[in-house]
Amino acid sequence: MLIDHQLVKGEGPDEAILNPATGEVLCMVAEASQEQVNRAVSAANRAFQSWSQTTPAERAGLLLKLADVIEAHSEQFARLESLNCGKPYARALGDEIPAIADCFRYFAGAARCMTGSIAGEYLGGHTSMIRRDPIGVVASIAPWNYPLMMAAWKTAPALAAGNTVVLKPSEQTPLTALLFARLAAEILPKGVLNVVCGRGVNVGQPLVEHAQVRMVSVTGDVATGRKILQAASGTLKRTHLELGGKAPVIVFDDANLDEVVAGVRTFGYYNAGQDCTAACRIYAGPKIHDKLVAELTSAVATLKMGTQDEDGVELGPLISDRQRNRVASFVERAQMAGHMEVTTGGKLRQGAGFFYEPTVIAGARQEDEIVQREVFGPVVSVTRFTDADQVVGWANDSEYGLASSVWTQDVSRAMRVAKQLQYGCTWINTHFMLVNEMPHGGLKSSGYGKDMSMYALEDYTVARHVMVKL
Ligand code: NAD
Repeated sequence: MLIDHQLVKGEGPDEAILNPATGEVLCMVAEASQEQVNRAVSAANRAFQSWSQTTPAERAGLLLKLADVIEAHSEQFARLESLNCGKPYARALGDEIPAIADCFRYFAGAARCMTGSIAGEYLGGHTSMIRRDPIGVVASIAPWNYPLMMAAWKTAPALAAGNTVVLKPSEQTPLTALLFARLAAEILPKGVLNVVCGRGVNVGQPLVEHAQVRMVSVTGDVATGRKILQAASGTLKRTHLELGGKAPVIVFDDANLDEVVAGVRTFGYYNAGQDCTAACRIYAGPKIHDKLVAELTSAVATLKMGTQDEDGVELGPLISDRQRNRVASFVERAQMAGHMEVTTGGKLRQGAGFFYEPTVIAGARQEDEIVQREVFGPVVSVTRFTDADQVVGWANDSEYGLASSVWTQDVSRAMRVAKQLQYGCTWINTHFMLVNEMPHGGLKSSGYGKDMSMYALEDYTVARHVMVKL
């Protein structure tokens, strides 16, 4: 781990880090002790005094170096991420690492370009101006589905804004954060970034409760978000919550069926569906419905599941046996309901690793669990709708509000529906695509606060008013 510029071993119990494609132990990573958590926070707190006084240009220079060093170690990062998460190596290398380096580059630039209200005499004889200042020590708590990318989404804007950080990766996937810590220690000043490993209750919770931590940013489950919010209430911390999702995919009769099928085949099953924006809840218009189910079923049946380095592999295993059992139990309950049909998949793959076949469930109704709850696995449901009002009502009838998509050739209809959807993002004729310039974040139980974009930089700063009597 990285505490106050020193690479140290955790003093707590060991956690076995697995390769989900084989179930084998890759290595043991020891958890941080309470005392180590305290030391990390104290180091970040001390470092804040000087880091918060650096210029945006100085911070940008160091963030650009972080981007360069990530890029220079692309293969090592992609290898670790793919081993620890079971992701296809080519996808980790080709999709994730470039987006992560770009995230640091984006915030390096953004730090120098913040805008806001103009200074002026809003009260006679007094000049007012707005400042945006950093908040202090930020605890960044990351999940297991995109370990390094989530760490980048949290640490890059926090550091760019002049905060110092204690990062806690998921106890299941700490490896890329540990490599990042080692490389960052050669670039960032002492104490500006600290990395501590361990479980939520043992390491996450003490961080959230620590009086010197001024903000907590977490990506994780809704239940985790609630616990963190409660724990943060004791010290009235700022919170930034990116929680789950259950993205509706609204397919009107005039949509281009080939593009819909290709899109859902990719965006419903990417990262084995362990994605909070996964295209998992399809609503199909009355005329396109049957063809969509038939063609999607055939297309999903051709997805190539396999281990990290298999030729042409498109999806890997789930993160753990526990997660696989959870996914399997959703599908079993859907089958038991009687009115739904598993048109492809629906089974565990026998043998080593935590594989679950890519699955399509047809005949799902709005009130069904499979339509309402986040599965976080390679399972897509299809529900038939009759008209636009009904489908918009159904799409919004969800506890979640992260991502959505609309598929139609009618631009006016797409815009009308996009306006009515209560989701942090709506894609039109695509799904899942993210860019560092645009915000990502939810409504309702999907949380609040934005990752990426200028909005994230604002979230990691506080607007202040300075008034001068003339
Ligand atoms: P999780 O909630 O189990 O864990 C997330 C992180 O929180 C981990 O680092 C964990 O150790 C920590 N944690 C757990 N309990 C804690 C506590 N009491 N105090 C402090 N920290 C605690 O989530 P996960 O299983 O790692 O990830 C999957 C979930 O994340 C899914 O629900 C998914 O939808 C969500 N997710 C959301 C987004 C988004 O941007 N909205 C992105 C990726 C994943």
